[in-house]
Amino acid sequence: MAQSVKIKSIQHITHDVLHIILEKPTDLAYNPGQAVDFAINKPGWESEWRSFTFTSSPDDNQIEFVIKTYPDHKGVTNELLSLSNNDEILIGDVYGDITYKGEGVFIAGGAGVTPFIAILKQLQKEGKVGNSKLIFANKTKSDIIDEAWFSNLLGKNFINILSNEQVDGYEHGYVNAELINSQMDGLKYYYLCAPPPMMKAVESQLAGLGIKSDYIIKEGF
Ligand SMILES: Cc1cc2nc3c(=O)[nH]c(=O)nc-3n(C[C@H](O)[C@H](O)[C@H](O)COP(=O)(O)OP(=O)(O)OC[C@H]3O[C@@H](n4cnc5c(N)ncnc54)[C@H](O)[C@@H]3O)c2cc1C
Repeated sequence: MAQSVKIKSIQHITHDVLHIILEKPTDLAYNPGQAVDFAINKPGWESEWRSFTFTSSPDDNQIEFVIKTYPDHKGVTNELLSLSNNDEILIGDVYGDITYKGEGVFIAGGAGVTPFIAILKQLQKEGKVGNSKLIFANKTKSDIIDEAWFSNLLGKNFINILSNEQVDGYEHGYVNAELINSQMDGLKYYYLCAPPPMMKAVESQLAGLGIKSDYIIKEGF
């Protein structure tokens, strides 16, 4: 049964990404990395369900999302741009394939970083971030979500790659086998979340590097 909860805060964290904080539905349980069915509780939108990933920790007393908006789709994420505090969101079933299994290389494209925000937040709380790394692919520097937070948490283990811009200190181009290979460092697990074309490319690079599918934890956005 879906529950309707109020927006406590909604704000831009990049030019096209929103950070939304909501009341927590009663009895909601989820694991870091999981997503939920989400709809806007407003006439005409209540049955437009979309998937979004919690970026809060399960024991927080609010829930949070980081959502990339697509104004040209005229869909749910565009509609979110017109919402404000106290507007309501329907929260439905929880699901998702990404869970933390151990130290590894996290590879994200754009909003595909959201499950890794939740997982790394939890690891930070537990003091268990260890030697995990994040390879984060974006078009430009202005698209990077939570750059300061990741940088602070991961230091040299935070590797940015930009496809549409050349910036000192940032890799340029698309994620490739050479870049992944340079970060493997004996790490056991590979976590992948990105739009379909990047998923396909990186899965084939991981296979080429000899990573067995048992050690790849993935979800396409
Ligand atoms: C498990 C899972 C978890 C996810 N978690 C997150 C998350 O935490 N954060 C996040 O930002 N995203 C996340 N996503 C992606 C997110 O669900 C989609 O971006 C979102 O559903 C887009 O909704 P929308 O209504 O704005 O657009 P859509 O549902 O993509 O499109 C609405 C309409 O626009 C039209 N349309 C589609 N594509 C285009 C296009 N390229 N140009 C013009 N029109 C188009 C179609 O007719 C469509 O009916 C997740 C996805 C999955 C599967």
